[in-house]
Parts: sequence; structure tokens; C-alpha cells
Amino acid sequence: MKTALYPGSFDPITNGHLDIIERALKLFDKLYIVISVNPDKKTLFTAAERADILEHVLKDHPQIEVIINEVLTVQKAKEMKASHIVRGLRALTDFDYEFQLTNANRVLDKSIDTVFFMTDNQHAFLSSSAVKEIAQFGGAIDAFLPPYAVKKMREKMK
Ligand code: ADP
Repeated sequence: MKTALYPGSFDPITNGHLDIIERALKLFDKLYIVISVNPDKKTLFTAAERADILEHVLKDHPQIEVIINEVLTVQKAKEMKASHIVRGLRALTDFDYEFQLTNANRVLDKSIDTVFFMTDNQHAFLSSSAVKEIAQFGGAIDAFLPPYAVKKMREKMK
């Protein structure tokens, strides 16, 4: 039984996150989608709202469980008996940050490794923050988010 955690802000989940999740499901039997609560990071949706969106969007995948995490990712991985952390790579710009994060996590717990999936080209320039900016100015966001996330985003922008 191979278990992994996919941590992130998911504020909200985009089609890019979904792409990574689908790739990870081919490798892992159990995947925890972990909403990382970072008190220093301002988010549009609360952790509970983000969990609601993720649960709706991913309801057809019995191997997935959505959790909210307030401790270190490696600590949560250990607790959930996960051997790997999943992260996504878009353009080269993600590399620097992910490189630092992976090394820090490795120092914290060398038994937990990080695996990366490269997203499909069409999502390579997609980020939750870009979508939030587009939505703020009333732009169409349907191409970037799963339908339930679009609905919740529209409600939020009202
Ligand atoms: P964080 O605040 O941890 O970066 P995000 O929700 O922005 O949280 O991202 C979580 C993970 O998903 C990161 O590894 C990020 O690189 C990846 N990711 C975000 N958007 C995309 C995308 N469009 N395609 C592939 N991976 C993505």
C-alpha cells in the first residue's frame, strides 16, 4: 500500500492541481490532499471552504482523503504513514522554491521523499493567484477551474 501526501494552499484548486492529482493516483494507492494552513499566508478561502471545494471536486475518487494540516508536512506524512510527498512543477520558476522545500523536508525527516510531476503544457502558466486576479476583474475563469470551484469563486466575488 503506497501512500502519499499532496500538500498545498489550494486557494482554490485549479485544473493544474487536478492534473497532478490524476498523475499521482496512477502511482499511489492512497492520496491525502493536504490543505496547509500557514498563518503568514493570506488566503481568499478559509481552510474549511477550501476543504469543501476539494471534497466536492474529488468525491469520485475513493483513494483520496482531504485533510487540513496545521503542523509540519513531514510530521503529517509520518502520522498518515505516507512514504512520499507529491508536488507539481510548472515552469522553471517553480524549481528554486521546490528545491529549497524538498531539501528542508529531507533534513527534517530523511525517510520521507518528495516526488514531482510535470503538469500538462496547457496548465504550465496556471496558478490560483492568477485565477483570483482574473476573477477580481470580472474575467472568465471557467477554463482554469473545476465547475464547483468556479461557482464558489463567483459567490466569493459578489
Ligand atoms: P503552495 O502554497 O504550497 O505552493 P499551491 O496550492 O500554490 O500551494 O501549490 C501546491 C502544489 O501544486 C505546488 O507543488 C505547485 O507547484 C503545484 N501547482 C500549482 N499550480 C499548478 C499547475 N498549474 N500545474 C501543476 N502544478 C501546480
